[in-house]
Amino acid sequence: MKGRYRYVIAGGGLAGASAIKGIREHDSEGSIVLLGAEAHRPYDRPPLSKKLWLGKKKVEDIFIGSPEFYEKNRVELMLGKKAVSLDARARELRDEEGRVYGYEKLLIATGCQPRKLDIPGADLRDVCYFRTLDDYFFLREKVFDGASAIIIGGGFIGSELAAVLSVNKVSVTMVFPSAYLCNRVLPEALGQSVQRGFIDRGIRVLANTTPMAFEQKEKKFSVLTKERGALECDILIVGAGVSPSAGLAEGALLKTGDGIEVNSRLQTSDADVYSAGDVASFPYRELGERKRVEHWDNAMSQGKLAGENMAGADKEYDYMPYFFSDLFDFGYEAVGEVSSRLDVVSDWQVENKKGVLYYLKENRVRGVMLCNVWDRVEDARALIRKKEIVTADGLKGRIR
Ligand SMILES: Cc1cc2nc3c(=O)[nH]c(=O)nc-3n(C[C@H](O)[C@H](O)[C@H](O)COP(=O)(O)OP(=O)(O)OC[C@H]3O[C@@H](n4cnc5c(N)ncnc54)[C@H](O)[C@@H]3O)c2cc1C
Repeated sequence: MKGRYRYVIAGGGLAGASAIKGIREHDSEGSIVLLGAEAHRPYDRPPLSKKLWLGKKKVEDIFIGSPEFYEKNRVELMLGKKAVSLDARARELRDEEGRVYGYEKLLIATGCQPRKLDIPGADLRDVCYFRTLDDYFFLREKVFDGASAIIIGGGFIGSELAAVLSVNKVSVTMVFPSAYLCNRVLPEALGQSVQRGFIDRGIRVLANTTPMAFEQKEKKFSVLTKERGALECDILIVGAGVSPSAGLAEGALLKTGDGIEVNSRLQTSDADVYSAGDVASFPYRELGERKRVEHWDNAMSQGKLAGENMAGADKEYDYMPYFFSDLFDFGYEAVGEVSSRLDVVSDWQVENKKGVLYYLKENRVRGVMLCNVWDRVEDARALIRKKEIVTADGLKGRIR
């Protein structure tokens, strides 16, 4: 079976859905098909580990665009259809059922997939590598009052899930090899403080602990650790990072590295093939280097811009996406490069609770984290763009 389209979008996540808006701003007629490997129409992922568990959102609230939106914009939705190969010379994409989609412009917005652990038992059927709405449904099914859960991973997904599951009366143990929670992003004093908040709320936090094997006996799991022997639980979740789903581009010999490499117009090494969102590695102008960003605002803004350019606009991606998270009462918004490996200057109004972190390289601000400080993302962007030489004292009170 073969169809020809002006626009083909591979990937039914936020970037793919946002591309539709971009395309329709410049081309109201051209045919669009969107292939999504998941059975659901595009939806937002952040609520999967936050608001859906706290009664602040319902599942029906998280979808991006109503069925009427896709109808009105004449988008053919091919849900539950995974694209398996790309022939860039023939300009054809093929799905796993053998359907062929000819295109004039293609967007690859296939996002990321959870990184599997390389230990015995890592592939056991009921181990939950959390990323999708179906993973949320799976976990909801498993959760009962007093259930015990082990979460492998001390990054944001693991930490967010630990927080919301504990609120849902699950007895949570976190297991991770690093010294404290969210250590890639948070400086040690703040990470330890957030971690103490988790412990105070009844979460068992086993830092410096390495999982060696998983076993499942009927409905119970056993996690064998290097430092603390075996731990038992009803629910086993892994949040050990993600890797870009770049297989289509790799198969077509497009330029890839850490993800699919695009230029500032979000074109891959084939000018008719674009890429956006978690899977795309792009020249991050303000940081002066190539980056791949795994955050919501980046997926939305890149998807939209890729759509616009596919439909004839000629815009550069020079936006600085922000990102956010919530861990109990510690919420933040951040922009730029936020890595604990940089020099971090903190300006607290309330120690480790409310204030601003500045991430510096060679005395210039590359990233800013606004901890329980709201509506200051534009100020943070301006400071990073300025690239001025700063001092710790000079940064005090700069953003409040
Ligand atoms: C639980 C969770 C919480 C998060 N919370 C935050 C947060 O608080 N703040 C924040 O900034 N970011 C957050 N993120 C990250 C944010 O959700 C992602 O950056 C965003 O979803 C990326 O969108 P995307 O469209 O690039 O990729 P994805 O959302 O991964 O979507 C890609 C889609 O393409 C599909 N696909 C893959 N391969 C194929 C193929 N070959 N053919 C067809 N379809 C394919 C996938 O199944 C998927 O549906 C969170 C992510 C998760 C998982």
